[in-house]
Amino acid sequence: MKEPLLVGVDVGGTNLRVGVLSGHELVWAMRRHAGFSEICQKVAAPEALGAVIETLVEAIGEALARYPQVQSVGVGFPGFIAPDTRLVTLSPNLPGLLNVDLVTPLRARLGLPVVLENDALAAAYGEYLLTRPRSGSLLYMGLGTGIGGGLILHGKPYSGEHGVAMELGHLIVIPGGRQCGCGNRGCLEQYASAGGIALNYAASGPVTLESQAIAALARQGAPRALSAFEQAATALGTTLAHVLKIVDVSEVVIGGGLSGAWPLMEPAFLTHLDGALIPALRGRVKVRLSNAEDRAGMLGVAALSQTHANAPGILPQNKRSP
Ligand SMILES: [Zn+2]
Repeated sequence: MKEPLLVGVDVGGTNLRVGVLSGHELVWAMRRHAGFSEICQKVAAPEALGAVIETLVEAIGEALARYPQVQSVGVGFPGFIAPDTRLVTLSPNLPGLLNVDLVTPLRARLGLPVVLENDALAAAYGEYLLTRPRSGSLLYMGLGTGIGGGLILHGKPYSGEHGVAMELGHLIVIPGGRQCGCGNRGCLEQYASAGGIALNYAASGPVTLESQAIAALARQGAPRALSAFEQAATALGTTLAHVLKIVDVSEVVIGGGLSGAWPLMEPAFLTHLDGALIPALRGRVKVRLSNAEDRAGMLGVAALSQTHANAPGILPQNKRSP
């Protein structure tokens, strides 16, 4: 049987990716700079929401113009998504978007079922679908503008009662530490995301740089740059050990834009992960880099869009118009 064509969208704080998928295969994809984080910081919420929706409609419209037979659209979004209403309750990296409805306007404009899911949970599901053999459960950690987490438990994405399950980036690693977009202080992503690494670097000397420039210096052996990554890796390893004590999965996948710098973090990460794990778990958790490149998020949310589209009653607002 021929697989249906589905659209998967991966919304980031900076970039936007749209893919058309047939099964696990990406048949068409585009990536563009969307600058949503910047827009949300500069303009008032209603205007920012309007800009986000316009950009999404335009980008998804390009995919639909090429592939009019697409059946449903999944959008992975960097924010907390209420499981019952599908509202974005808060997006730490897109400030101002509080309790906003993206699904209704997108569905109306696109004329297709639209499913919205947290971006990291979407990526976790995509990674899970691509994993062979599967153990049934998988934890995904996405390192980028922020730090996202997604848990697949016995084959199903687990988003929690309020849509904030596995928000790994907002586990507090330094009580009273750096201010975070979620409203708290000292969250993991303030020390171990791309922005967090830049802050680590800035805190240790007069020059400030972005994470990519710091990574380039670290690869040349610059001590301050290496230390900024080591601080991130220490926080990541220790935090992941705590999470594994709670969810006890045997497969962890690291993805996201910052994962290209993983070799700079892996040694300290593994040392601190091992050091903080319960001894019985040591050596029994496989941590690997994603090999799905940018595809996992789009694949996961596209697959979820079909699951929901085929299950009327789960998301009544997503039913096709008669
Ligand atoms: Zn936070």
